[in-house]
Amino acid sequence: MNILCVGAGLSGAVIGRSLAEAGHSVTVVDARSHVGGNCHTERDAATGVMVHVYGPHIFHTDDAEVWDYVNRFAAFRPYRNRVKTTSRGEVFSLPINLHTINQFYRKTLRPDEARAFIDEQADKSIADPQTFEEQALRFVGPDLYEAFFKGYTIKQWGVQPSELPASILKRLPVRFNYDDNYFFHKFQGMPEDGYTAMIAAILDHPGITLSLGTVFDRAQAAEFDHVFYSGPLDGWFGFELGRLGYRTLDFERFTYEGDYQGCAVMNYGEESVPYTRITEHKHFAPWESHAGSVCYREFSRFCGPEDIPYYPIRQVREKALLSDYVALAEQAQGVTFVGRLGTYRYLDMDVTIREALDTAAHFLSKGTAPAFVNAPL
Ligand code: UDP
Repeated sequence: MNILCVGAGLSGAVIGRSLAEAGHSVTVVDARSHVGGNCHTERDAATGVMVHVYGPHIFHTDDAEVWDYVNRFAAFRPYRNRVKTTSRGEVFSLPINLHTINQFYRKTLRPDEARAFIDEQADKSIADPQTFEEQALRFVGPDLYEAFFKGYTIKQWGVQPSELPASILKRLPVRFNYDDNYFFHKFQGMPEDGYTAMIAAILDHPGITLSLGTVFDRAQAAEFDHVFYSGPLDGWFGFELGRLGYRTLDFERFTYEGDYQGCAVMNYGEESVPYTRITEHKHFAPWESHAGSVCYREFSRFCGPEDIPYYPIRQVREKALLSDYVALAEQAQGVTFVGRLGTYRYLDMDVTIREALDTAAHFLSKGTAPAFVNAPL
């Protein structure tokens, strides 16, 4: 069959690869001049640093099959994300761990003591936390919440944490030991030559025709037997019901001679600092050595029509609109909506790949695929 994948990010590349390997003829189009979507990496000519152009991406997963898959297309180097945060004039370790707790409260608690101490801070009247704020108050109490999560979250999402779902905070563990690995997954690493090289390798198959700098037009869909669309769900429908809300990011790029901050990611927990975090890209590749440095100050704001969508907002208003778009999409024929933008979900890279593999397997076994293999709601 003739297949079109709209978008050369992880979803489009992985689905395209699976279908091409099964003998289908696949065309992948992307409006941008590069593959990789927002995972795109590029070596800075002046310093030699591999830059995560659309912000930091760290690969982490518990899914052995996905880990094997990415290792087929790129050499992965060990990488542990050890995030720091600046708050109230001090630098603390994230995710909240025993070091953070002891430093914050000027104590020398052992794990069991810290557990009991934090339990005393926690608001146990919240039986089943629904919001970000309830989740924080229930598990770490008001002091740590206000120092590390409240200001950051207001900056990141533009709303009060009481209006956000608990699931956002559930991304972060709380540890009662000195493990400061930001992620709790079994496999973690960085592709040695960057994500763009990895995704280019996934797309490198004789059954795949890649067309960059190509803005997709829905009229093109008629030329194909099936379309896998990883662009924004509302974009497919020309935004006819209105726009789904996203947060976008602005990066204030600067260079530095030497080591600017000594780590890859420094968060800023307070609302008074206008940016959420600073990333120093060379620390994402600790096996490399560069005299110069490239850093990004990261600012989050509401995504306008001309901006790049990053984080789906998924509050009550967006979910109502989303369900209207889902109803429309379910009537559409010959198209499957995939990935972060196509299904309007906050997806990590490993989940995106898992879903793309499953979507391709579904298509190969049934000879077709519904609007959503992974439901947005
Ligand atoms: N978060 C926070 N303070 C921090 C780091 C994260 O309040 O120092 C909150 C914030 O709301 C963020 C969420 O936890 O959106 C998830 O954080 P993660 O680091 O997973 O965000 P990402 O790297 O995907 O932007």
